[in-house]
Amino acid sequence: EALLERIDAVEDRVKAYLHLDRDGALARAAEADSERREGRAGALCGLPLSIKDVLCTEGLPTTCGSRMLENFIPPYDATVIRRLKEEGAVLLGKVAMDEFAMGSTSENCAFKVPENPWKPGYVAGGSSGGSAASVAAGECLASLGSDTGGSIRQPASLCSVVGMKPTYGRVSRFGLVAFASSLDQVGPLARDVADCALLMNVISGYDPRDSTSVNRPVPDYTASLKDGLGGIRIGVPVEYFGAGLDPEVEKTVRAGIDMLREAGAEIVEVSLPHTQYCVAVYYLIAPAEASSNLARFDGVRYGYRNMEADSLIDMYCRSRSEGFGDEVKRRILIGTYALSAGYYDAYYKKASQVRTLIMEDYQKVFSSCDLVVSPVTPTPAWKIGYKSDDPLAHYLSDILTISANLAGVPGISVPAGFSSDGLPIGIQMQAAHFNEEVLLRAAWNLE
Ligand code: GLN
Repeated sequence: EALLERIDAVEDRVKAYLHLDRDGALARAAEADSERREGRAGALCGLPLSIKDVLCTEGLPTTCGSRMLENFIPPYDATVIRRLKEEGAVLLGKVAMDEFAMGSTSENCAFKVPENPWKPGYVAGGSSGGSAASVAAGECLASLGSDTGGSIRQPASLCSVVGMKPTYGRVSRFGLVAFASSLDQVGPLARDVADCALLMNVISGYDPRDSTSVNRPVPDYTASLKDGLGGIRIGVPVEYFGAGLDPEVEKTVRAGIDMLREAGAEIVEVSLPHTQYCVAVYYLIAPAEASSNLARFDGVRYGYRNMEADSLIDMYCRSRSEGFGDEVKRRILIGTYALSAGYYDAYYKKASQVRTLIMEDYQKVFSSCDLVVSPVTPTPAWKIGYKSDDPLAHYLSDILTISANLAGVPGISVPAGFSSDGLPIGIQMQAAHFNEEVLLRAAWNLE
């Protein structure tokens, strides 16, 4: 009830919720009350959460921020949603995002554009902008987002909340509407590191319904948070502090690195030499996979259909032309181009080869370091509308988050401070595959 009141008070300004399930949430909260009374409380009993609208929720709209899925109500829950419910969580509703998770500001949402709770008129980041804004504005206790190239960590950084992209395969993607299947991961956005660890405990683990989910035990991520950083070696990649980095961001992140040192970690300089190629590689691989994944939205099986078309091809064309927004169309065009005969070797194949080099960079660094630390974004949040007609400028803002997805390693964004004009600045840490524990432990020392 308190959160619904809070939503009523601030939602006009924050614009995070695409669908608020008032009655469902209150009913679920009442059940949680009895579970608690009867000593059957799960790990998330009664905790109200928001969910990025890219995760299938049985009986609740799942639009992916797209006209294409405006009226889609899934008949099943994503595995992560089922796990949340089994532990007693209360789902408040579904929150705004860039259409099909393509974007860095949530401005590509077909329905509403969330605003940064810290500064009116500024972006909340993207694509999980509604998740980050709803957590930062106190409209939920935590949220689930998805991260294909930074979409959890970047909005978390711009809104001063904790956001984690787990190792590829750690969390089930079953019921996550696919953007780029070899890069997508579901993860938590939360008010602090302990909440983030608690959600990781619940959503992680093997799922036979996701063939890329890994069958490996899940540690208790909350148990080791306070173990300190003695014996931990942290690399500072020189490439992440290059040209284009805002001086206030650099200063804030370097102050965070000092805190890690004071907490007992050894800090060393390292190199991830292929970082300069990550944007180019990502913007071939992600659109290539997206163009294939989005082929299913054809007006027949799911979502929007143009009813005036007089032939099958015309129906496909008009449904897709009217259902998808500009950025989604741009990605489909880039992706089909890069995959076509004659271009495949020059673009998709070459990008895949460089992706391997990027993975090898990480392997080398993690053979001598436990984690690497860097900024999350080159600048703090910017004004809504700024460079919104210049997609390349937005693509470049992902430069520091993308390589974790290309390599499949886990990453976390933790609040580190504020710029002189009051905008949040985050600090990013990345670790070797399945080393979320050490990431969370280091993050806890930054709070
Ligand atoms: N901003 C990146 C993109 O537009 C990343 C999005 C994401 O992680 N879902 O593709």
